[in-house]
Amino acid sequence: EPTIGVLALQGDIREHVAILTALGAHPRPVRRPEELDGLDGILLPGGESTTIDRLARIFGLMDPLRMAIKSGLPAYGSCAGMILLADRIEDGMADQQTIGGIDMVVRRNAFGRQVDSFEAQVRIAQIGEPDFHAVFIRAPWVESVSDDVEVLGKVETGEAAGRIVAVRHGNLIATSFHPELTDDHRVHGYFVDLAREYALDRKEHSQ
Ligand code: GLN
Repeated sequence: EPTIGVLALQGDIREHVAILTALGAHPRPVRRPEELDGLDGILLPGGESTTIDRLARIFGLMDPLRMAIKSGLPAYGSCAGMILLADRIEDGMADQQTIGGIDMVVRRNAFGRQVDSFEAQVRIAQIGEPDFHAVFIRAPWVESVSDDVEVLGKVETGEAAGRIVAVRHGNLIATSFHPELTDDHRVHGYFVDLAREYALDRKEHSQ
């Protein structure tokens, strides 16, 4: 089973670790560059992207994360993690950096400050039926994507209907919402499958 790093600087770390464990994967907290070695995937939790960016730079993790992702390491970013995987952001802080990797523009706090959090249905063909009941907390949305990015899901219901909130670009997946806050583990399962394939591929090529 794949070993999956969970960036453990700030945010919903415990919840993700619990779900990855329940799915049979081996989660490992990542706070230092060396802890990226030997991973089959890395999960970037929700929290506050400006704080995670700042801490990642202080811990010397930003460039190692960029290199790991360039080399093809599967990654999944939720909410602030989505922002971290975006090549470009709107409404970021003045000096805010991202890891990048997904060729898209993401708007921070896009659903408006008055709607701090809400829930909505998201249809994701790759995880099947029923629609995913998604929890959004001061969430970003995807403003635009390049042709290389696959739109996995949009909001189906309510005022925000039609907004892109789940994408995939190669081995990188991102969602605006927080699947670690519900009992539905299908998004994590989709990511663990990707990490498992990556691990198998790597083994074959090293033989
Ligand atoms: N608004 C936060 C940010 O900009 C993201 C919120 C979240 O991860 N729940 O990073």
